[in-house]
Amino acid sequence: MVIRSRANSLIAAFVALCLSATLVQAEPLAKELFGAKRDASSQSPAAIGGFSKGCMAGGVQLPESGPTWQAMRLSRNRNWALPVTIDFVKDLSAFAAKQPGWKGLYVGDMQQPRGGPMLSGHRSHQSGLDVDIWMLPASRLNLTRSERENISSISMRRAKGAFVNDNWSRAHHRILREAARDRRVARIFVFPGAKVQMCKDNKGGRAWLRKIRPWWGHHYHFHVRLKCPAGATNCVDQAPPPAGDGCAEAQEWVDNILNPPPPDPNYKPKPRREYVLADLPKQCAGVLQSR
Ligand SMILES: [Zn+2]
Repeated sequence: MVIRSRANSLIAAFVALCLSATLVQAEPLAKELFGAKRDASSQSPAAIGGFSKGCMAGGVQLPESGPTWQAMRLSRNRNWALPVTIDFVKDLSAFAAKQPGWKGLYVGDMQQPRGGPMLSGHRSHQSGLDVDIWMLPASRLNLTRSERENISSISMRRAKGAFVNDNWSRAHHRILREAARDRRVARIFVFPGAKVQMCKDNKGGRAWLRKIRPWWGHHYHFHVRLKCPAGATNCVDQAPPPAGDGCAEAQEWVDNILNPPPPDPNYKPKPRREYVLADLPKQCAGVLQSR
C-alpha cells in the first residue's frame, strides 16, 4: 500500500512535469511558422493585413536575374512579393538602366515566400508590398551567387544622415523620383539628408516629394511601399503621408540630427510582444496551411 501510493505520487509528479513542459512550449511564434516556409502558398495572390502585421497569399518569386536587375542575398529567400510589386520592380529597374553607370537595380529584401513576420531583420515586409532597393549602382548584372552574398551596398550619408555624401548622384534623385511618381507607390523611406537634398535639387512639380519619407537608417538602400491593389479587400493600407511636400519636416529631422534635443525624461519604449499566429488576420492560418 505504501509502495503503491509512492508509485502513484511519482506518476502524478511525472504527469504534472509533462503538462508544465507542454505549457512552457506553448504556441510557436508567427515568425517561426512563416520563417520555415520555403515556397509560396498555392492560392491566388493577395495581400492580407498590414505591412507589419500580415501575410501574403500566392506570392511570386522575382527571377534571380533579369534584363535590368539582380536579386541580392539569395540565401535569405526573400525575393518574393505580390505580382504588382514584381511588376513595379521590373519597371523601375528598366528606368534605372537608362541612367549613366547603371545597368539596372540590385534588389534587396522583399518578402519571405508567404510573407508574415521574419526571424530577423524587418518589422514590415509582411504583406507582399514592400521592397528594399540597393543604393549601390548596378554596374554589372552578372554577379554570381557568392558575389551576391558578399558584396555590400554603399552608404549615401554623411553626418549621421544629415547630408548626402559624394556617392549620391543625379541618378539616385531620378530613380527615387520615378519611384515616387509611380501610381502604385504609397511611400518611400530614405534617410533625412537625402530627402532634403532632393527638395533642394528638384525642379518642376513637387507633388512626388510628398511620398519621400525621412526615416532612420535607409542610407544603404531605400524602401518602397506599394498601396494595397484595387479590390484587395483584406489588405490594410497605412494612412497616406501628410499633405504637402514634407520638405520642412525633413529639414526638422536634419536639424535634430545636427542639434539633438535633450532626451525626453518621460520616454518609455513601447513594449513589443512577438506575434503568434492568432495575432495576425485569420486568413494567414490558411496561407500557412495551403500547399
Ligand atoms: Zn525595407
